[in-house]
Order: sequence, then C-alpha cells, then structure tokens
Amino acid sequence: SVAEGPFITGENIDTSSDLMLAQMLQMEFDREYDAQLRREEKKFNGDSKVSISFENYRKVHPFDSDSSEDEVDWQDTRHDPYRADKPTTTPKKGFIGKGKDITTKHDEVVCGRKNTARMENFAPEFQVGDGIGMDLKLSNQVFNALKQHAYSEERRSARLHEKKEHSTAEKAVDPKTRLLLYKMVNSGMLETITGCISTGKESVVFHAYGGRYVHCFTNEEDKVIPPECAIKVFKTTLNEFKNRDKYIKDDYRFKDRFSKLNPRKIIRMWAEKEMHNLTRMQNAGIPCPEVVALKKHVLVMSFIGQDQAPAPKLKDVKLSSEDMKKAYYQVLNMMQRLYKECNLVHADLSEYNMLWHEGKVVWLIDVSQSVEPTHPHGLEFLFRDCRNVSQFFQKGGVIEALNERELFNAVSNLNITADNEMDFQAEIEALEKMNEDHVQKHGKKTSTFPSDGDPPICGE
Ligand code: ADP
Ligand code: MN
Repeated sequence: SVAEGPFITGENIDTSSDLMLAQMLQMEFDREYDAQLRREEKKFNGDSKVSISFENYRKVHPFDSDSSEDEVDWQDTRHDPYRADKPTTTPKKGFIGKGKDITTKHDEVVCGRKNTARMENFAPEFQVGDGIGMDLKLSNQVFNALKQHAYSEERRSARLHEKKEHSTAEKAVDPKTRLLLYKMVNSGMLETITGCISTGKESVVFHAYGGRYVHCFTNEEDKVIPPECAIKVFKTTLNEFKNRDKYIKDDYRFKDRFSKLNPRKIIRMWAEKEMHNLTRMQNAGIPCPEVVALKKHVLVMSFIGQDQAPAPKLKDVKLSSEDMKKAYYQVLNMMQRLYKECNLVHADLSEYNMLWHEGKVVWLIDVSQSVEPTHPHGLEFLFRDCRNVSQFFQKGGVIEALNERELFNAVSNLNITADNEMDFQAEIEALEKMNEDHVQKHGKKTSTFPSDGDPPICGE
C-alpha cells in the first residue's frame, strides 16, 4: 500500500491520516538510514580489492526501491569471469602495452567484452545467448539497462512463484506428505487439491476435487470418488499428540499395538481410528463424511459443503429458533445412535465439530478421538460432550434442551440419579472403575454397561 499511496506522486497529500504520515516518515527514515549505510560501507571498504556489502542491512531493499542510486557500478569486478583466465585482464597499474598501443581498463573493447561476460551472472532463467562466442561488446549503458531488466524479471518470477506456493497445499505440509498428496492426484483418485480449509493443532484439512477412481488405495478399482473431497492430514509433529495418549492408550481396540509403536505410527493410528469411527457412523446412517481412502496419516473423505466452501460449523451459523430446535433434536438423536448403534462416544463433541449442511442437517465430523463407552474414561468424555451440547442449545434458546445430566442419561440410558454435578461425576467414575475391575477379571473384551434396556431413540 505504501507504493501506491498518493504521497508518491506528490499530489493530493492527505495529511489527515496518521498511518499515512507515519508511513511517509518511516520511508524517509529508511532512505536516510540506507544512505548512511552506504557511506559506512564505502568507508569500510575503502580502496580494498575485496569489498564487503552491507546490502542485507538496508531498510529499503534496492530491488524494491525506485531509487536511481542503485546504478550498476561497471567497475565492480567481484564475479568477473574474464578476470581469472583471460590474457586481456588489466594489470594492477591499470594499463597494458607500451606507447601508442597502450590499453587501459577503460578501453571500450575490453569493457564491452567484460560486460558481455558479466551477463552470465544474471539469473539462469534470463536468456542472454552466446554473447561471448560472438565476441559481443556491450557498452556500459546497454549493460546497465540489461542488468536492471534482469533484476526486475527475477523479482517478477519470484513473486509469481510465491503466489503459486501460497495457493496450494504445498506450504502447510512436509515433503513426505506432499509426495503422498501428489500420488493421490497422480493416481487419478483426486482431480486437484485446491487449498487449505483449516489448520488446527493436530491436523490440516484441504479441499480437493475428486478424480475418477481409486487406483492403488483400495482393491475396488471403480469405487466412485465424491465430486469434492476433504483431505485431513494428521500432523506429524509429535508434541501436540502427547496429551491425546489417554484417548488411545486405554482403548482396548488399540491396546495390543500401542506399546510396540513409535510415535509416527501412533499418529497414523489416529487417522486409522477416524476412518474406523466414520465407517461405523456411516453404517448407522449418521450424517458424517464418507471415507474415501486412508494412506498413512492422510485421510481422504467426502467434503461437507459445496464449491470449495465447507458447511459452516454450528458455532458460526445464526439459526432461527425453529432451526435451532431442529438441530437440537438431530444432535440428540445422533448422540443416541452413536452410543447405541456405533458403540461410540464422540469425545470432542461441541458446536465446533458439528456442521450445518444445506441449511437443514447437522453433520458430525472430527471423530479421531472417539472411543467406545467402556473406554476407562469413556463416560467422562460422554458427560463432557453432553455438557457442551446442552449448554450450546440452552444458550441458543432451545427450551426443550435437556440439561447435561438428563442428556447423559438419555444417551447412555444409565439412569444416574444424582441431582448435582459433583455426585453425578462421582457416580460416573464409580461406573468406570467397576467396568475396569470387570475387565481385569474377565480379560480385555469389556462388557457393556448395565442399563435399563435400550435407550429411547428420539426422533425430531
Ligand atoms: P481438527 O482436529 O483440526 O478440529 P476437524 O476434523 O475438526 O479437525 O477439521 C477441521 C475443520 O476442517 C473443520 O472444522 C471443518 O471446518 C473442516 N472439515 C473437516 N472435515 C471436513 C469435511 N469432510 N468437509 C468439510 N469440511 C471439513
Ligand atoms: Mn475439529
């Protein structure tokens, strides 16, 4: 914005903007700073053959400034390829030959050749042709103009390159993951990966257009790929995952494997876990992303949303009170089916992980941490889910919304009677402990909790 500010042209100087004034002052300061720097550089280097550049300390980078002080010094011989091995190199005294045949370093022909040779120092993409081979002699003026042009071309291509990198998945993932993503596109499974939807602590999610078929990821050659996909890349930086240990460590489904695995493999297990959980939900008809493919720590699923725009999270939509009520009953129903039919507790259920799709249906996402109810902390997770859901809908004005304890009972059908949070929590922990003791006695496969028959499935 600085470059386009009106003060550049000297017209319409708007002195009412403090920002503008500050920028003008900063620019002036930078100029003076750089001028001083140049003086210091000159003083430091003196007449020395080897000079040290202070360029990196400049405020206004010479490539970005319009300053004409950045003229090329054609006597700069730092990277002169002629210098080393050409016989015409000017010796120290500044000239060769004798009498009439004397040739100084300012000789037009010598300079011209030098300039031609220096073109080799331009960026590799800048085509200069074989000037040396045809004994081209460039005047200083022409050389300077070419050099300026070469610089600006370099800058332009750097800018284009930067843009390209930002617009794709490239920057957010490590090279190995990038390769995995490329392979998915290469195999035809994905058409294009358009960009990043979300960067969380533990995962990065990309949007992609689906390709034609699954090639090497499953055996079903002609599995239909959804037109739009979400790619969830589980982050391979390990520290974020440490605090998730408790979810997976005690999950009997993963118990045998956990102890033997290195952290990298554990991260793959999160992706695998999400896949299994999504499949269970899919089978129970709960609205959730459909699994497309799993490759290492990368999970491809159907995209909830349209035209690259993900469906909004419940936290981000403003629903009418009627829709809010509908959403509540959907969520209640899903929680019950998740518990009863999928034998799962979401364990991170909140308005952040529920999407409002097509203006009418709540979809559940983010189930990598979901556990079975008999997980040693399963009921605590369920209670937390219930608290989040209950609070969200009660605050959202749904008078029918059960409170967290009622909701817990409605989902689990455990009929815990405590009427305050403390006692309720204590009973939950007692149940978990009872279950653990049962596991200790009867081997790893756990029983379900004793309940009063099937929980009532709530419709809308
Ligand atoms: P995290 O562990 O980072 O919360 P999520 O699975 O919740 O991972 O995904 C992060 C965000 O990415 C979500 O809030 C949602 O906006 C978006 N997202 C994830 N999966 C999908 C999907 N299948 N379709 C559309 N958007 C998705
Ligand atoms: Mn999430």
